[in-house]
Amino acid sequence: MSGRILILDSVATNRIVLRAKLLTAQYLVTCASTIADALNMVRSDLADLLIVDLGQPAELVLDFIQTVRTDPATAALPIIAISSFCTPAGRLEALEAGADDILIKPIADGLLQARIRSLLRARDADSELRLRDDTSRALGFAEPAAGFAVPGRIALIEDGTTAAKGLSSAVSRILGYEVQTLDPDSALSLDPSGGVPDVFVIPARTDASRVDVGIVFRLVADLRSRSESRLAAQLIVVPSDTPEIAAMALDLGANDVVIDAAEPAEIAHRIAALLRRKANLDRLRDTVKSGIRAAVTDPLTGLYNRRYALPHLASLAERALADRREFALMVLDIDHFKRINDTYGHASGDKVLVGVAQCLRDNLRAIDLVARIGGEEFLIAMPETTVDQARGAADRLRRLIETATFETDQPGQVVRVTLSIGVAIGGVDPARPEDVTRMVDRADAALYMAKSAGRNTVTISRSAA
Ligand code: GH3
Ligand code: MG
Ligand code: MG
Repeated sequence: MSGRILILDSVATNRIVLRAKLLTAQYLVTCASTIADALNMVRSDLADLLIVDLGQPAELVLDFIQTVRTDPATAALPIIAISSFCTPAGRLEALEAGADDILIKPIADGLLQARIRSLLRARDADSELRLRDDTSRALGFAEPAAGFAVPGRIALIEDGTTAAKGLSSAVSRILGYEVQTLDPDSALSLDPSGGVPDVFVIPARTDASRVDVGIVFRLVADLRSRSESRLAAQLIVVPSDTPEIAAMALDLGANDVVIDAAEPAEIAHRIAALLRRKANLDRLRDTVKSGIRAAVTDPLTGLYNRRYALPHLASLAERALADRREFALMVLDIDHFKRINDTYGHASGDKVLVGVAQCLRDNLRAIDLVARIGGEEFLIAMPETTVDQARGAADRLRRLIETATFETDQPGQVVRVTLSIGVAIGGVDPARPEDVTRMVDRADAALYMAKSAGRNTVTISRSAA
């Protein structure tokens, strides 16, 4: 995790004290005494996180924060505002300008460190995902972003206090979204089909209701570790005088903390920021997912491509070895396919490839993998398959293709094709595991023999030994 922190504070002693604290935590720290200097450093990409004292004319500092936040080149930079005194309206102003948090002096060391860790972690996760999104885009796989905002689902964890009810209705009024109330047990047993909340608001009050913070910490960690709620954001509401609880919650994976004395407007602002970030990350994740799908799929037939097939085969081989079970690999090649192209045209050839791919896919088990690994060449990986079963399956496919007719691009016109198939069996000798590329070579050699033997034939490779 990169950790270059820039401090903007016009008071030299403040800078020195804060710098010393951050240096002991192993961050690289630079300081700026003026807004102009700070802006230059930020624009030269010299900082991973900004700590800004609001002590100087606050309007100017807020302007500076807004400038950093609105420039696309620096918009993702985490910003912590610090202040000696701040009214609730002042806190909201700093957040609205673009600060991720505002901490009031004297700042508890543990909380500052935890907040820095949490913001840097989030920044790293975001940029990792953005990088993969860029790759998908560069490869031409990205789908256009949906242009509409999905309503945010907000869940408030019940702590039995009336304050929670007030908060729920205030937030719902400000943001215009319904706020669902959940008890901790139901939050941990969500039905994914029912729509999982995007943001959990979790009160960690220690006052009247004497909430056990242990329960809250467990809830934070549990929500983060469960697949249904793993990606949901968490905002923890903590008592003002308990920075250690706030720090702990952030370190356990909460995305944000807010003091329970904060105005509903501030809490609503933080929820809205979490919703925006989550919607953005969801979109990035979807693009990356569809990019990955596109990267491993053959666009003509929809089958997996070679890039996917080989690692899949390697993990299949590993599992077969661990389970001491055999598996089969087939390489299938359409006979005299060039003639189809020559006689009926390339477009007809494409239709035949799609038809053959479909026929293979429809006649195998769900656990078998079919890939197109070359122009008119396919690979099939079959887990838990003995040599006799593989021979049977290969011959069945060979006969199916032989007797089928495939459409060309001319209405009503059909053609027939045949397949030559080479088969290799793996996992036979656990004492001597075979590299999958060698196994593919063996299946290829068997295919070559099938071609030499007159085509429309299945040939089994002799064992790897
Ligand atoms: P053999 O029985 O020895 O396999 O003969 P063949 O004609 O099938 O093999 P050869 O390797 O000589 O030719 C393969 C042909 O497949 C040549 C190429 O034009 C065609 N081909 C490869 N990819 C595609 C494709 O995506 N679409 C179409 N229509 N044809 C393709
Ligand atoms: Mg061929
Ligand atoms: Mg070929």
